[in-house]
Amino acid sequence: MRIFLDLWWFFKKEKWRYIGGIITLCLSSLLAMIPPYLIGVIVDDIRTRTLTPIQLIKWLVLLAVIGVMYYIVSFIWRQFIFGASLRLSKLMRDRLYAHFTKLSPNFYHNSRIGDLMAHATNDVTAVEDAAGDGVFTLVDSLVMGALVIISMASLISWKLTIIALIPMPIIGIMTRYYGSLLHKRFHKAQEAFSNLNDKVQESISGTRVIKAFGQQEVQKDIFKLESDDVVKKNFAVAKVDALFDPTITFVVVICYFLALTFGSMFVVHGSMTIGGLTSFTLYLGQLVWPMLAFGFLFNIVERGSASYDRIVKLLAIQPDIVDRAGASKNVPSGEVTYHIHQFVYQESESPALKDIRFTIKQGQTLGVVGKTGSGKTTLLKAMIREFDCREGDITIGGRSIYDMTLSALRGAIGYVPQDHFLFSATIGENIAFAKPGASKEEIEHAAKLAHIHADIIRFEEGYDTLVGERGVTLSGGQKQRISIARALIIDPEILILDDSLSAVDAQTEEAILTNLKENRKNKTTFISAHRLSAIEHADLILVLEDGKIVERGTHEELMKDKGWYAEMYQNQQLESLVEEGGKIS
Ligand code: ADP
Repeated sequence: MRIFLDLWWFFKKEKWRYIGGIITLCLSSLLAMIPPYLIGVIVDDIRTRTLTPIQLIKWLVLLAVIGVMYYIVSFIWRQFIFGASLRLSKLMRDRLYAHFTKLSPNFYHNSRIGDLMAHATNDVTAVEDAAGDGVFTLVDSLVMGALVIISMASLISWKLTIIALIPMPIIGIMTRYYGSLLHKRFHKAQEAFSNLNDKVQESISGTRVIKAFGQQEVQKDIFKLESDDVVKKNFAVAKVDALFDPTITFVVVICYFLALTFGSMFVVHGSMTIGGLTSFTLYLGQLVWPMLAFGFLFNIVERGSASYDRIVKLLAIQPDIVDRAGASKNVPSGEVTYHIHQFVYQESESPALKDIRFTIKQGQTLGVVGKTGSGKTTLLKAMIREFDCREGDITIGGRSIYDMTLSALRGAIGYVPQDHFLFSATIGENIAFAKPGASKEEIEHAAKLAHIHADIIRFEEGYDTLVGERGVTLSGGQKQRISIARALIIDPEILILDDSLSAVDAQTEEAILTNLKENRKNKTTFISAHRLSAIEHADLILVLEDGKIVERGTHEELMKDKGWYAEMYQNQQLESLVEEGGKIS
């Protein structure tokens, strides 16, 4: 029952809804006590032949009025209690979402997305159940149970009440036992179903690879195993389900047996009327639900408590990238300086960046090149504070980026990541992502700069074309250019292109770079690339190796140095010549 204490803050917040709900719920239980008693009275009147048609009509009208009142009151308490529990789930979901947005990429690196989704769905639902069904079953089983027992004992016969009630607690115990068994097995069945889902999704997305390697048969066997597992685990659930009803019915039948056997004896002995016995059996029927509810209550509360603990634990994780106290919302323009002594990723032992020191003037372009894994992305991501370099500093216009708020810093930077991601929305909405409410002209201007406008207007619905799972299939190059347009629409002080031109051809690359040069006067650009032509015209080029700057200078200077850069450049030139030659012949 600890969950009710845990949720006390919420009950207090919604106290009027809960008080209203509990009062009306009690009222509905009270109303439910009247019909069995009236029916007993009617039966007795029939037996003693004292029932007149007028009297019968009066009773029936009274029963109908009670029925309508019960209907209204039940509607009201449901609105109150379940309405409040829905508010709780919304509140928890919003809190979780807000929390998720604050956590760093490192957190997502170490968490399974499926797990996080489960927290936002199943766990929130379990807590919602505790605040809705939990409160309802607690109040109903106690109030309704007590009222029925009091009615039976005081209005009819306390002796018969004791006799008939002997097996009743078994219902509560069995409900609890079956409930938790069902929950455990259901959980396993759900898990098996999730695995099957993952398998289906993976097989469909990887179907080309599966076919290319001729692995269909092996995949079929794996799938069959997963599928059999789902059936087996669902059978286990069905078994408990199938046992539940007959067991409860059996116990209820025993209660009726005792009530009728001893009740008839009381009637024969004259200590009870037939009407009394009729009312008693009706009350007995009404007692089954509170007993069931009592059993359910434990399971609801247990599940809610476990889920609440998981959510609280998740909410307690502190985001590792936060604003410093007194951080400014202002990002000055000016030169960018890197002074990083070293940076080591949390899970790593060797530094990803070492002795990175350089200055790039406002309006200049920085090119970062090097082998895969040399630290290019890390160097660029340090700028948007995807992680904090504790041993070093980066400044913009002489001010440390750590003295600016995260939202201001990131708002001033247009970052195009390597792994471009487009939302399931229209192309226009994807471009306007960082500037909601951008005009059509602004969107088109950004698209033109990213050299994607012509491609977009070729689609039947132009900028309204849907992308993502239910939309058109875009090529890698098109996706990259839409991502670039998304960064350009905010006309950022600093633009970061992290290998963002890799999927476009050389001509498009050149067109985009020329557009950037012409339209981004006085604005700084960072470009990392594998194809050196993308950074050839940069004002400063850094060559990284194992996180260190091993060569630096302009294209001309680096060519003279005859190091990695010069060698790579010549190789790439040769490659493109061979490619062009191949095209001509
Ligand atoms: P590049 O962009 O040049 O390919 P990266 O900056 O992505 O290089 O990676 C530099 C080094 O840091 C690599 O050795 C890589 O394995 C490591 N690394 C990158 N990201 C992480 C991370 N999130 N956690 C631990 N190590 C990482």
